[in-house]
Amino acid sequence: MSDEKIIVYAGHLKNAIIIVMSSVYIRNAVYDYASLRPVIFELMEILDRDLIKTQTRVLIKPNLLAASPPDQAVITHPNIIKAVAAYVIEKGAVPVISDSPAVSSFERILQIGGIAEALKGMNVQFAEFKRPLKVDVGRPFNSIEISAEAMEADVLINLPKLKTHTQMLLTLGVKNLFGCILGRTKPEWHLRAGVDREMFATLLVRIFGALKPQINILDGILAMQGEGPGKSGEPRELGIVMGSDNAAALDITVSKMFGMQEGSLLTSRIAEKEGLVSGPITIEGELPLINDFKFPEMAEMVFGPAFFHNMIRKHLVQRPVCSDKLCRLCGECWDYCPAKAIKRKQNKLVFDYEKCIRCYCCLEVCPYGALKTYETVPGKLARKILKFES
Ligand code: SF4
Ligand code: SF4
Repeated sequence: MSDEKIIVYAGHLKNAIIIVMSSVYIRNAVYDYASLRPVIFELMEILDRDLIKTQTRVLIKPNLLAASPPDQAVITHPNIIKAVAAYVIEKGAVPVISDSPAVSSFERILQIGGIAEALKGMNVQFAEFKRPLKVDVGRPFNSIEISAEAMEADVLINLPKLKTHTQMLLTLGVKNLFGCILGRTKPEWHLRAGVDREMFATLLVRIFGALKPQINILDGILAMQGEGPGKSGEPRELGIVMGSDNAAALDITVSKMFGMQEGSLLTSRIAEKEGLVSGPITIEGELPLINDFKFPEMAEMVFGPAFFHNMIRKHLVQRPVCSDKLCRLCGECWDYCPAKAIKRKQNKLVFDYEKCIRCYCCLEVCPYGALKTYETVPGKLARKILKFES
């Protein structure tokens, strides 16, 4: 049985000598299919390197976070998925399009997201990740369950969406692979990593190291800024796609585009530390400099000795709050909340901020954008004093 297997991933081992030089290809693009198709085909030609042939098991992993129409910028645009699938079919293989959504049904996401319609009549398969495979990703996580379908694919094509992320700052190539953890176990990992962003980022990097998708194409045509990655974020047109053989190199290139300080994207810093990306990244195409992109307020203020952390989290770190006007009491957030910190009290949502680990999963999964983060007055003051904010 495949779910009994344990695969050991050694990429994180200290002293392992891994030199990974990477290239990133940047192209301007729009969603109109006739214009987009040649752009995606060109990127696929570059990145494919003769990997895709008849009989190749090709798995396409878009960002299918939630049931959301393309203009809300929550999921990878259907025309990007369509163009990549068309390329794979042209090479004689049958692409399988998969993900393991945290909330909502896979089928509903395909419908509402316009993917089922866009790919109608094409020789593709849609299949939600179902089979777990135990993979040893090293300490402190050890054996974790990753989708067997993704691990066993001959070619894994990663199609992330460029979005902000309230907990991790941005969700790009590396973070998109968290979708290869089966839906029901995602909240457990959030709970284990707790408020420790570095720990969660390390987990994301280990998942990336285990999967190492050979082809990565980022949808940055209509990106998301503000309080992403769910419906609380705000669509922002950037008009670009980026391709790379290395998801971590792609992420580093995006942070350069936003003029971010080196190392401020935790997953990139850890991927570099663990040898999953190194050496100069070759950039082909024009990298724009975007300095007015809106980032979420980051909850980076957990510092000092461990026994202070709970107190800091409770009083200083931004907390989730609910708009009674927008909330429809659908229950997605309290079902998903890893800490079970949300309850319904009559017609309102009540948060237990003692229990809340500030993972912001509730913002991510709310289908109505009813949740936001709120910074307390002591939190604002502390941020200023500690120069977390200029
Ligand atoms: S906040 Fe959002 S997810 Fe939670 S109950 Fe209200 S509408 Fe549903
Ligand atoms: S209330 Fe929201 S931020 Fe707090 S633990 Fe639950 S999902 Fe995470």
